[in-house]
Amino acid sequence: MKNIIFIAPPAAGKGTVSDYLVSNYNYEHISTGDLLREEIKSGSDLGKEIDEIISNGGLVSDEFMIKLMEEKLTKLDKDKPFILDGFPRTILQAEKLDEMLITNKVINNLVIYLDISLDEALKRVMGRVICPKCKRSYNLTNDKLKPIKDNICDNCGIELEKRKDDNEETFKIRFESYLKNTKPILDYYKDKNILKWVDATLEMDNMFHIIVGEAKND
Ligand code: AMP
Repeated sequence: MKNIIFIAPPAAGKGTVSDYLVSNYNYEHISTGDLLREEIKSGSDLGKEIDEIISNGGLVSDEFMIKLMEEKLTKLDKDKPFILDGFPRTILQAEKLDEMLITNKVINNLVIYLDISLDEALKRVMGRVICPKCKRSYNLTNDKLKPIKDNICDNCGIELEKRKDDNEETFKIRFESYLKNTKPILDYYKDKNILKWVDATLEMDNMFHIIVGEAKND
C-alpha cells in the first residue's frame, strides 16, 4: 500500500479514514494533532504554549512542527505504510516534507484531498467526540460513527471527550486558516501528479473503497 498524506479541512474525516486503514491495512497513523494534545496533557510549559495556540484556532510554528515530523519520520517502521494526518499544513511544511521523504528514502506516496464544505464540516465538528486513550474519533451526528454505549469508547470502555477547539467560534478560525495556509498546498502537489481528490461527503464505505483503490500499489 502507498503512504498517504491527507490534505483536508478540519473534521473532513481524516481520523475516521485513518482508523479504518489502521484496522484493515496495517497502516501507521501519524496525527500531529494527537501528538500535540499528548504534549498538552503532559502539563509541560511547552504543552501550555501549544494549548493556547490550539484553543485559539491558530497554527503551531512551522519550525516546531517540522522538527517534530523529522523525529517521527526517522523512527518509522519501514515495513509499514503510514498516514500523515495534519501535516503538512503550510507550503513550507510541504516543501520540507519532500526533503525529509527523500532523505529517508520514502517513496510510493499518495496525497489525498478530502473535500468538504464549511457547513458540513461544522455540523461534524459539533458532533465529534474522541477517546482520550486510543484517540478514536466518534460522531454523534452519524449512526455509523456513534459509540455502542452512550459516550463510552468501544475499544477502551472509558468516557469520550469533546475537543476544546471543537466549538463553532474556534472552528471558523481553523477553517479560515485552512483556506489561507493549507489549501494552497494542493497546487504544489498537483504539479507532482500524486494528488487524488475525494468527496468527503460520500457514504462512508464508498469513500473507504475509493481511497483503498487509490492506495493499492499498481
Ligand atoms: P488536528 O487534530 O489535526 O485538527 O490539529 C489540531 C490543532 O493542532 C490544529 O488546529 C493546529 O493548531 C495544531 N496543528 C496540528 N498539526 C499542525 C501542523 N502541521 N502545523 C501547525 N499546527 C498544527
